[in-house]
Amino acid sequence: MKIAVVGTGYVGLVTGVCLAEVNHDVICIDTDLQKIKNMEQGISPIYEPGLEELMVKNINKGNLKFTNIHVEGFKNAEVIIIAVGTPQMPDGSANLQYIEAVAKSIAEYVTKDVIVVTKSTVPVGTNDFVRQVILDNLKCDVNVKVASNPEFLREGSAIVDTFQGDRIVIGTQDEETASILEMMYEPFGLPIFKTDIYSSEMIKYASNAFLATKISFINEVSNICEKLGANVEDVANGMGFDNRIGRAFLNAGIGYGGSCFPKDTHALVQIAGGVHHDFELLKSVIEVNNKQQRLLVDKIKARFENPEGKTVAMLGLAFKPNTDDMREAASSVLARELIQLGMKVIAYDPIAIENAKTQLPQQVIYANSSEEALKQSDFALIVTEWDEFKQMDLGKLQEWLTEPILFDGRNCFTLEQAKNAGIEYHSMGRPSIM
Ligand code: NAD
Repeated sequence: MKIAVVGTGYVGLVTGVCLAEVNHDVICIDTDLQKIKNMEQGISPIYEPGLEELMVKNINKGNLKFTNIHVEGFKNAEVIIIAVGTPQMPDGSANLQYIEAVAKSIAEYVTKDVIVVTKSTVPVGTNDFVRQVILDNLKCDVNVKVASNPEFLREGSAIVDTFQGDRIVIGTQDEETASILEMMYEPFGLPIFKTDIYSSEMIKYASNAFLATKISFINEVSNICEKLGANVEDVANGMGFDNRIGRAFLNAGIGYGGSCFPKDTHALVQIAGGVHHDFELLKSVIEVNNKQQRLLVDKIKARFENPEGKTVAMLGLAFKPNTDDMREAASSVLARELIQLGMKVIAYDPIAIENAKTQLPQQVIYANSSEEALKQSDFALIVTEWDEFKQMDLGKLQEWLTEPILFDGRNCFTLEQAKNAGIEYHSMGRPSIM
């Protein structure tokens, strides 16, 4: 099938590459010429495990191309997948300007019948809007069908998620459109759930809001555990045996971040408000997360009478491991607050440092390894649970830090490990080791 993917971010590029891998003829379109030039040379604009290799393989096979010229990309397309960003507006709602721009360019440049699929996360009713914008601006007498197809991949495991995801959701009431899209996805061999467009659009927001709720729920439980001397990990394990609950997404920590949960929870609150429904539960989920992201600062303030002048090693900057994405990362909030307290922050991340430099306060100093950061610091924080931190020899902290104290925002170590290393260890929802 001839497919054009508009937007080559985390979703668009992964989708394009994976569709090419199953032998579709794919062209990826982006307005960012530098990205296009890099991709043509086999350089991925984002860090995503396995992506660059698969991209190069399919460029060489001849079924993956790139362009910044929409007319070129749309020329032969049977299906156009919209995968541009839908960032958060100041009021929390989704910004649809990029979606609208793509719809207008589709209207301007398509010359044959086509199915337009919205993969970007968009509020209920947006596909109607896309259809209308296209109809209002169409230059040729062609038939354009619109369908919703939300994306569920996770950054850091996006390729695996695309090939082994839990489901593909297709929202359309047009049988022919549904069967063409089923055919497109057939090689992935995944369960396909078909529904109407509005429900499909809602499935994405409801899924992300539910996952965010699970995280905020366990974080609240974690904070109570700390005060009562219980261990949140055991609590989550014990809860997780119950099939109705499940163990996934019950890891206490310093909250969720990234490009999706924060913006999608805010957007759903706005969507609900638009139909005069006050989504109180979700507002609390957001509030809990905002507090949770800065919890390590409170712990530091409680531990040190005067943290001013201390140097802290901040290990992990990306919003989660295996990605370079810094959008809404807790490290940003923490670095700002620690610097305001008069502390010196020495930061290290295996992949995200370049992106971090554009987000973190300029006073932050960057190290080339965790060892380098730790050797210059009084104490340490873990903000992102990269494997290399989990595999760290905790005993070395005695040697490297002035005061061997670790605040672990992601519970990377067992209490046993911390005890054996002879360090002071403060984690989330578990008793501290002193
Ligand atoms: P991104 O910001 O990484 O990428 C968007 C890309 O679109 C950019 O490269 C930009 O240059 C390009 N673009 C913007 N306007 C364009 C236009 N008119 N024509 C061509 N290209 C254009 O975004 P992302 O993280 O891939 O997210 C895309 C959508 O998918 C969002 O709605 C997001 O909520 C949703 N989503 C994201 C994830 C994720 O993990 N990142 C997961 C599921 C769903």
